[in-house]
Amino acid sequence: MSAPNIETIVSLAKRRGFVFPSSDIYGGLGSAWDYGPLGVELSNNVKQSWWRWLVYNREDIEGIDSSIILNRLVWKYSGHEETFHDLLVDCRECKERIRADKLDLPAGVSSIQEAIEKKLVKCPNCDSTDLTPPRQFNTMLRTTLGAAAEEDDPTALAYLRPETAQGIFINFLNVQQTMRKKLPFGIAQIGKAFRNEITPGNFILRTREFEQMELEYFVRPDDEHFKLVDYWVDQYVGWYTGLGINRENLHLHEVPQSELAHYSRRTVDIMYRYFPERAEEERQWEELMGIAYRTDFDLKSHSKNPETEDGKRINQDSTEDLSYFDEAEKKRFYPHVIEPSAGVNRSMLAFLMDAYSEKTNDKGEKRVVLKLHPELAPIKTAILPLARNKPEIVGMAKAIKRSLQPVLRAVYDDTGGIGKLYARQDEIGTPYCVTVDHQSLEDEAVTVRDRDTWEQERIKVADLQGHLLTRLASARAEQLVNGE
Ligand code: ATP
Repeated sequence: MSAPNIETIVSLAKRRGFVFPSSDIYGGLGSAWDYGPLGVELSNNVKQSWWRWLVYNREDIEGIDSSIILNRLVWKYSGHEETFHDLLVDCRECKERIRADKLDLPAGVSSIQEAIEKKLVKCPNCDSTDLTPPRQFNTMLRTTLGAAAEEDDPTALAYLRPETAQGIFINFLNVQQTMRKKLPFGIAQIGKAFRNEITPGNFILRTREFEQMELEYFVRPDDEHFKLVDYWVDQYVGWYTGLGINRENLHLHEVPQSELAHYSRRTVDIMYRYFPERAEEERQWEELMGIAYRTDFDLKSHSKNPETEDGKRINQDSTEDLSYFDEAEKKRFYPHVIEPSAGVNRSMLAFLMDAYSEKTNDKGEKRVVLKLHPELAPIKTAILPLARNKPEIVGMAKAIKRSLQPVLRAVYDDTGGIGKLYARQDEIGTPYCVTVDHQSLEDEAVTVRDRDTWEQERIKVADLQGHLLTRLASARAEQLVNGE
């Protein structure tokens, strides 16, 4: 079967309650999405799996949850107020808004400005060459704080964070001191981030409100930082492939010097093949996550430290020096940082696309089977009665569901024949279906059906919880080994 495109996933996601277009009854809200009953489970599982992998499984990483709205000075000294811009171009013909960096720069011209002046670039929507000169657009979303705040009162201006990272930097010493951490160590955070994207789109790939899973990994100034970037790239490739992503659908992109963010000295993006239907291979990829070497830029910028070498950034507002004291060497310095930054939503989309498969049953009917890793599956097991008009069978199935629920996410379903019930669970990725039949009343055993092989085995009800937990635990252990 050919790989699914994003449209296949959009339709599955809507049909089966993963993701709905937001504010749909009012005509929607440009590229905003709501997560339904299965989507919220999948998203929670992605986040829990990441947290378990980094915060629980390793000794050198702690977690935090910082505010979404921070003091505006955070964004001044992080450099975002000044530099978190996209270049925006408007088409005068069809009014399309275009991100200048997404326009192809023709050979022989040095800037997009020049290309537009010479009418060498076309609007991707209507092919017109009548485009406005590029202008800078700060993509931080603004809000105002306080009851009396006027729209344009600069003292009330605040931003919804465009990345979770800054909440980590400003808490660096709090975490280091309370947890008595020594370098190297990391701080992890999951949370919402907001960007006023010029061209949101492609389902949950690019939205104005999204979720990030960020790690700031602090190391010594004399460490081998470029090698540490490679180390974290390998770790994340292991994490994604361990959770079911085909390595062939990942591609490493070394970001050219000229395109690096203001804080980065090296960035490697892990790209995912979100557009397998596109003919040219280089157009199939979009960023899944990035791993950046941010130097000591952020800790220094936020420190009360008149000696910061970049004259513009001397910080008279901060009350703290965020340097680190090395006990062994009796030396103070600013740690450097490697930052793997992953999107929850882009990860979910990649997991859904990679898990999507089609299979034909022995009646020749096409079935969708979502082969999500058991760790990610929204529902771990469905308890299905073979006959819904038999009170003893229904009672037994419901009792099994209740007994499993405290330890794993289980559902009970009797709203169709068994073939239909299996098909429904396959389509949402439930790894194990448990069927209660007439025989179960006699032998206190049930049938456990595997989603991927459709093989069935008979298990005693008394052993069922242990059986399912063992299978889930071994799938998790395998994945954690892979992520190491
Ligand atoms: P892009 O070039 O695609 O706009 P970026 O390089 O600006 O992405 P980063 O600043 O590196 O993205 O953010 C880290 C991660 O956060 C991205 O790899 C992605 O997974 C996620 N992310 C960033 N912007 C969005 C968005 N608008 N919608 C969904 N996820 C996003």
